[in-house]
Amino acid sequence: VTNPLYDRLFGRHAGKDTAFLHLPDGKILTHAAFLAVAAQFGHVFAGLGLKAGDRIAVQVEKSPECLAIYAACAQSGLVFLPLNTAYTAQEVAYFFEDSGAALIICDGGAEAQIAPIAHRLSAALLTLNADSTGTLMDAAAPMPTVLATTPRGDGDLAALLYTSGTTGRSKGAMLSQRNLLSNAETLSSEWQFTNADVLLHALPIFHTHGLFVAVNVTLIAGGSMVFMPKLDVDALIAWMPRATSLMGVPTFYTRLLQDARFDATLTAGMRVFISGSAPLLAETHVQFEQRTGHRILERYGMTETNMNTSNPYNGERRAGTVGHPLPGVELKITDPETGETLPGGEIGQIEVRGDNVFQGYWQMPDKTAAELRADGYFITGDLGRRDADGYVHIVGRNKDLIISGGYNIYPKEVELVLDAQPAVLESAVIGVPDADFGESVLGILVAQDGQTPDIPAIMEAVGASLASFKHPRRLLIVDELPRNTMGKVQKNILRDRFS
Ligand code: ATP
Ligand code: MG
Repeated sequence: VTNPLYDRLFGRHAGKDTAFLHLPDGKILTHAAFLAVAAQFGHVFAGLGLKAGDRIAVQVEKSPECLAIYAACAQSGLVFLPLNTAYTAQEVAYFFEDSGAALIICDGGAEAQIAPIAHRLSAALLTLNADSTGTLMDAAAPMPTVLATTPRGDGDLAALLYTSGTTGRSKGAMLSQRNLLSNAETLSSEWQFTNADVLLHALPIFHTHGLFVAVNVTLIAGGSMVFMPKLDVDALIAWMPRATSLMGVPTFYTRLLQDARFDATLTAGMRVFISGSAPLLAETHVQFEQRTGHRILERYGMTETNMNTSNPYNGERRAGTVGHPLPGVELKITDPETGETLPGGEIGQIEVRGDNVFQGYWQMPDKTAAELRADGYFITGDLGRRDADGYVHIVGRNKDLIISGGYNIYPKEVELVLDAQPAVLESAVIGVPDADFGESVLGILVAQDGQTPDIPAIMEAVGASLASFKHPRRLLIVDELPRNTMGKVQKNILRDRFS
């Protein structure tokens, strides 16, 4: 073995006519055909003078070829850097510059805007369009379909993945071969993926969820994916009878539940539904089981660490929790002030250690030093607690903690009470500046379809179940909560809007 990531994810499938991707038009892309394209890309990259350790920044629509760029990077020891397709040219310019990318691959439609940026940064530029055309494809067509694998080690960088930017500017997380491989192996065995699995893949592939969790797990297990451009409930329902598994953000599950065709019969052949990237409402969990007989398996992770915890495949999947630390992952709950481990059951910051934990933030030594301890523990920025059975409960982000009159208020605790009220679909609780208390609690509600929450009655119910310092000073109703592409509620936007 000379390049663990390539050999164990991709190389093992070389020359095999087994199905890798089922495409929307019904065609099947085999492992062999996929790897042939990746090899051609590798030749193109070598021809441009790229060498091991160089970064390739990619902002293109989801396509099999985009995934083949990832495979080519692994085979050639290049660092894969996928970017959110929603970012504007001005926004991606920051990532190109920050990463020092040697090659930029963008959609043909963005070429005119990106070209001057690439020129300024002395980066090469190629295009790849959603319909599999573009200058990358032109350059690859005459290339050989086999490529010598560049030797790499466990500790070498495989990807630079920027965080979602939910709490501030995105940070580049340096992920090594070991970080990615160890997690892929752990997850595929915990969730019992095999070569018989057909995963419904409707997530973006610029984020850890759709890229490393979904794709790496499938590759390690030798299964296949139904590769869909984006979340489309009709397409999910159409493919479901031929699939075994789905990975989604909570929005996937709430959207499926809104469709009457989604029921126990449709899902009879499904083995597992996995959720993550944002909290799944306990209510969604319950409704899902009532409708389909399946219990959603919720797990917890982040760009910097891949996955940290998971509910059990066999055993109780506990709604509102993210399960136990995965094998090989150590997790502790600490006092944010002192860093000391807190006694069982108390709320504190979640810290994790293991082969899954990243190598640090790209060119941010101070931030790395502040969040990645010398002993290997990473301070996740999330707050949580473990219950008596060891299940991890996430109560929100450290940055969303509300401090009012010197008391800590965990938004999640208040949100759970609000969510349970009649006519309330969901809620977000934030702190807004307050002259007397520093911050005061604001509750923002989304009504269930066609209903109107009774604000005074809700205030009364909250009064009966929460200590008075936790009571929202005001409750507002909005049409919907602001969410980013991964379904995460953007509390910074709510704070800006309502402060
Ligand atoms: P940034 O770090 O740039 O502010 P981000 O933290 O949203 O953005 P990601 O790495 O994509 O970027 O998301 C990781 C975060 O998502 C976790 O720290 C956690 O807050 C949240 N998360 C992931 N899975 C779950 C889950 N199952 N339940 C609750 N929160 C989750
Ligand atoms: Mg984060």
